[in-house]
Amino acid sequence: MNNFFDTSIEFLKGVGPQRAELFKKELKIFSFGDLIQHYPFRYEDRTRFYPISSIDDTLPYVQIKGKFTDFEIIGDRSKRRLIGYFTDGNGEIEMVWFQRIDWVMQKIKPGIEYVAFGKPSRFGKKLNIAHPEIEPVTENNLKGNSFQPVYPISEKLRSRYIDSKQIGKLQAELLRLAEPHIRETLPEFVVASKKFLSKKIALRNIHFPQSQELLQAAQRRLKFEELFYVQLRLIKMKLVRQDKFKGQIFNDTNILTRFYKEHLPFELTEAQKRVIREIYADLKSGKQMNRLLQGDVGSGKTIVAFICMLLVIGGEAQATLMAPTEILAQQHYANLKKYADRMNIPIALLTGSVKKSQRKPIHEKLQSGELKILIGTHALLEEEVKFHKLGLAIIDEQHRFGVAQRSKLWQKNTDVYPHVLVMTATPIPRTLAMTLYGDLEISSIDELPKGRKPIITTHQFDAHRLKVNGFIKSQMDAGRQIYVVYPLIEESEKLDLKHLMDGYESMTRAFPDIPISIVHGQMKPEAKDYEMARFVKGETKIMVATTVIEVGVDVPNASVMIIESAERFGLSQLHQLRGRVGRGVDQSYCILITGYKLGADTKVRIETMVKTNNGFEIAETDLKLRGPGDLMGTQQSGALDLLIADLSKDGPLLQDARELASQILSSDPNLEKPENQLIKTQIQMARKTTVNWSRIS
Ligand code: ADP
Ligand code: MG
Repeated sequence: MNNFFDTSIEFLKGVGPQRAELFKKELKIFSFGDLIQHYPFRYEDRTRFYPISSIDDTLPYVQIKGKFTDFEIIGDRSKRRLIGYFTDGNGEIEMVWFQRIDWVMQKIKPGIEYVAFGKPSRFGKKLNIAHPEIEPVTENNLKGNSFQPVYPISEKLRSRYIDSKQIGKLQAELLRLAEPHIRETLPEFVVASKKFLSKKIALRNIHFPQSQELLQAAQRRLKFEELFYVQLRLIKMKLVRQDKFKGQIFNDTNILTRFYKEHLPFELTEAQKRVIREIYADLKSGKQMNRLLQGDVGSGKTIVAFICMLLVIGGEAQATLMAPTEILAQQHYANLKKYADRMNIPIALLTGSVKKSQRKPIHEKLQSGELKILIGTHALLEEEVKFHKLGLAIIDEQHRFGVAQRSKLWQKNTDVYPHVLVMTATPIPRTLAMTLYGDLEISSIDELPKGRKPIITTHQFDAHRLKVNGFIKSQMDAGRQIYVVYPLIEESEKLDLKHLMDGYESMTRAFPDIPISIVHGQMKPEAKDYEMARFVKGETKIMVATTVIEVGVDVPNASVMIIESAERFGLSQLHQLRGRVGRGVDQSYCILITGYKLGADTKVRIETMVKTNNGFEIAETDLKLRGPGDLMGTQQSGALDLLIADLSKDGPLLQDARELASQILSSDPNLEKPENQLIKTQIQMARKTTVNWSRIS
């Protein structure tokens, strides 16, 4: 039997082939099931009528009842607008139309009683509502007891006169037809223990809530369900992998002990020790490790990586580290080589720019097992790169590599997969981590080495440039180097380049005797590297650049990061940029420069930067700020195609869902118990239809 919810959307009354095409293209709605899961992103409260005299422009949307006393057209051409004076007997408000004026004039008459709905705003001293929704009073809308759903719509749909109201009508029709077909999709014991609404009642109330309470209950149930199945799949993936892939066992700590005794350059932080313990437990467990290691810039991930490599080398295997860019690979190589040399461990670098003649010996020594550590870029993935026995693959900056690349590294061993450690300097909030990396174990270095001076961050307005220049001068007099970073936004590359060039010129004018470097994305790689190298060597004192330096060279002597047009950067990006300084022994500074006019979100971003250096805290705030949905109500694009849950707000629900999923799978890994049959069917059905859950970046 065909599933009712698989029926093509074309066959719903009121849709037809043409609209069906639009729905598919614009909203990715193909079937009845897709439509019924096209949830409202907000609701209009039609449960009350506001007295006009009580309205002010802080209210979101208001419903009022009254009559028009007069109409007037004012202005001409693009300023032409229709004003209707609307009163409820006590107060008066202006209704304004800029478009479809003739149509409105035909339809709406003075003296008739209407229900009007819209967003009040202030124009000078007067309040008005632009393009209100107007309906003649009927018995139905007078009852005023409903929450009207507002659905995500695209501009294209709007231009074809399909609005939220129309979608609401289709939903009502669909719900009527669907009623006998809606089955429960969570097991009875879950619905009962969590006191959830049934699926049927939840669906009805998510579209047409009968009360605020029922709306909230419907949201809670549907969000939980969505998060639960995502987590169930992720945990299942992890279990399958652990089951299927044996792990090489590394439990020889002799080399590591020697390193600790003779060469450890500093005492490890508690966080570093904890993370090493977590990884060591994996390495000797007999299961293949898949772990995410997150830690702020400067938290000391490199030494942790090296220590893990030692554990593997102690077990006669090899280790590799893959970085997303040539510069990063070189930097890792330089840092790790310092440690490796002290231990007489052979290490090599392999990137795209390593010459053929130099590659051959690397390939040979790798295959014979003589070479123990190989650092590189995706050049590592090439066919000719063959390990003798790869025990550990470390991947830096995960989000730049796809899963496909990750698994290519795995396959470097034919018999048994290497352990995999993914490192990232972009801490992500727990809720996001649980979903994006839900199939990985997570370790966090949430503590900086002792004695680190926190970077001092301040905010300056454009107009105070002279003061900033004075500060730059004093820092350079003290021997420091300076970064000045300009935003780069792809749509207007030319304009950005102009800003950058203007900035460079004003720096050369302010500091005529100081050698200044400039680096941007449109330069040839060789020219870029050359300029970078000059700055690294200290030949130039100021580096004017776009965000290309975000993941760039490590220059301990650079102690000032100036970020121009800071309002144009996201919070996480600001934090990443700031991480370029604070690497040496000197006090470091970050100065955020903006114009006077700042939006509310920008203010929060700037304040957060000034207030904290903690990447985890910053990540949480960033998630809250960027939240889901823009004005049109489309979900934030990205890796997480969630229909209703919102990772910036639903943390506790997510935690709850993950715990339940994990409980169920640990007591019944293959979902064989009778009470779990429903779950099993759900997963199998979803597998046929939905997106590829293993997609990560
Ligand atoms: P990350 O890669 O996490 O950004 P690094 O590994 O490059 O950080 O470490 C930053 C700096 O801190 C390096 O100079 C490193 O030698 C130093 N460092 C790391 N761990 C410690 C520690 N426990 N105590 C003192 N210094 C440390
Ligand atoms: Mg690092």
